[in-house]
Amino acid sequence: MPEIQRRKTPTVQIGNVRVGWEVPVVVQSMTNTDTADAAATIEQVTALAMAGSEIVRVTVNTEEAAAAVPAIVEGLDKRGLRVPIVGDFHYNGHILLKKFPATARALAKYRINPGNVSIGRKDDDNFRTMVECAVENQKPVRIGVNWGSLDQALLTRMMDENSKSANPLPTREVMLEAMVASALDSAKAAEKYGLRHDQIILSAKVSGVRDLIDVYTSLAARCDYPLHLGLTEAGMGAKGLIASTAGLSPLLLAGIGDTIRVSLTPKPGGDRTEEVQAAQQILQSLSIRSFMPQVTSCPGCGRTTSTYFQELAEQISNYLRTSMPEWRKKYPGVEELKLAVMGCVVNGPGESKHANLGISLPGTFEEPKAPVYVDGKLVTTLRGDNIVNEFKTILDEYVASHYGK
Ligand code: SF4
Repeated sequence: MPEIQRRKTPTVQIGNVRVGWEVPVVVQSMTNTDTADAAATIEQVTALAMAGSEIVRVTVNTEEAAAAVPAIVEGLDKRGLRVPIVGDFHYNGHILLKKFPATARALAKYRINPGNVSIGRKDDDNFRTMVECAVENQKPVRIGVNWGSLDQALLTRMMDENSKSANPLPTREVMLEAMVASALDSAKAAEKYGLRHDQIILSAKVSGVRDLIDVYTSLAARCDYPLHLGLTEAGMGAKGLIASTAGLSPLLLAGIGDTIRVSLTPKPGGDRTEEVQAAQQILQSLSIRSFMPQVTSCPGCGRTTSTYFQELAEQISNYLRTSMPEWRKKYPGVEELKLAVMGCVVNGPGESKHANLGISLPGTFEEPKAPVYVDGKLVTTLRGDNIVNEFKTILDEYVASHYGK
């Protein structure tokens, strides 16, 4: 498979994690707990980190939230979790970072939204104050432009200039250009206020897939800062997953993007770690990084007997997910494992032979037996009511014998 040519960038150090061209694309996520509730936030950060989030962002919007950050970082430290915690600031970051110096020190990175920090205003230069805090504490920043909170003064100025030009551009193009200009101007100002070039990451998030591809393509062509990719407000369920995949994939395949977040709206009481699984799956589907063994399963059809094969595919996928935190430590490389769970004899044996481990269940009118293939060879045929457990045993043995240190 041809290698993806990543766009060259400096490497930004965020706590113990590096982001940039020299290292693989980093997966990150964001909590939705009240940061002031340190215990709940520690629990959620733990779940996100255990699911594979390499950086976690928390909202820092009030004095109570800011005051809780050192306890959150300490609590994670006591659990042995060194995942870098990023503070997400809007409007009052300059006040909170000044008033809570321990928080400014505990955070691994600050996210600054140039649309709501009064950048450039002489009488209220909140942006400069935040950057000076970052410089003082030697922290990187992400300059995170979002079209929902784009710098209105900049946009109005660019719209006015455009309307007066001989060949005015469509409004959409001016808006995307304003986002790029906001990110680049803010990065330039941050460097003027003392931040190093390799302490800056940029993002320019929009909620439309085509807009996302265009704005990041433009941004990537005009700077060498590492880029944080994400479709903002991607939405719920299949819509959020598909829109994020559609938006991120062309950029990642073009070598654009150094860290990604998938902004899914969870169902009420839903699992926040789904966004981590989604980000990992996008990278793994594109053969950019491997995180977990992949299960190839057929969609099933009229030849499939009952729902048994769907249940087997689900049980094997769940078994892999729950086993991975331990396997990752004990069995390096296990994330490359490939399994096939197939519904009948038509494609079952063929697909199973392409996997490390494959099982082909009996379809309608087929003999009630399930041939199992290991590295392309038929090794056994399972029968009866205990097929799932017997297949898991074969899986465990394969993992231990092929990936044990
Ligand atoms: S492998 Fe068999 S059961 Fe699965 S989709 Fe193909 S024909 Fe249907």
